[in-house]
Parts: sequence; structure tokens; C-alpha cells
Amino acid sequence: MVTKIDHIGIAVNSIDEQIPYYRDALGLEVEKVETVESEGVKVCFIKVGDTHIELLEPISDTSPVKKFLEKNGQGVHHIAYSSSDIVKSVLDVKGKNFQLINETPKTGAKGKLICFLHPKSTFGVLTEICQETEVH
Ligand code: ZN
Repeated sequence: MVTKIDHIGIAVNSIDEQIPYYRDALGLEVEKVETVESEGVKVCFIKVGDTHIELLEPISDTSPVKKFLEKNGQGVHHIAYSSSDIVKSVLDVKGKNFQLINETPKTGAKGKLICFLHPKSTFGVLTEICQETEVH
């Protein structure tokens, strides 16, 4: 079951360049920067109440985020929903004929299990479903 918005992903050219905006202008708490090799990105989480902004900076030319930036420029990249049971959420989505990019959950930032839904199937919004795991 989807329980809340976990984070909003934003594609950026440079995390460092944007930190002063979130930290100094908006006064938000910037958490650790982490590399997610499987997605070819460096990510930075910014805490906003009980949800987060996730800045995504590509670290390779084959990164999907790099392709996104070339096509769309910087800006909102995806919305991520927390699920209490990602396997069930994936089955629900499939059962209603919405298309997934990966049906088998993979490990994303913070050790969470993640699946992406295809934006062509979700009205233009790249959508992530994620679930916390015990190990961080
Ligand atoms: Zn995300």
C-alpha cells in the first residue's frame, strides 16, 4: 500500500551548485551525498518535514539522468511514493495495466527497494515506488 510521498527527484547539472539554494535560501537540512552506481548518479537528499527532495546529478554519459537533462534541462525528474509492501504495489500496478520499467525491485539510494513506472503509462510523470529496508 502506498502511504505517502517519499521524495521528489530533481535532475541537476551540479549538486554543489544548488546546495546554497536549498540550505541557505530555504533553510533546509542537507543530508549526505551518495553515489548510486546502478543509476549512474550522485544523489543528495534534502529533508523537508517528513519527506525529501532528491537531487540527481549524472556521473556517467550513459546515465538515464544525463539523457533526461539533455532532453529536458534541469527540473523535476520523478515523484517517489513510499509503499509498505513494494511487491504488492507492483502487482497492483501491473494488474491495472500500468507499465513498469523494472518489475523486480532493485536497490536504490539509502538501501531502499525501488521500482519505476514508465512515464508513458503514468501520464507523463516518471513514478518511483520505494520501500524502506532494515539495512541502510
Ligand atoms: Zn528517487
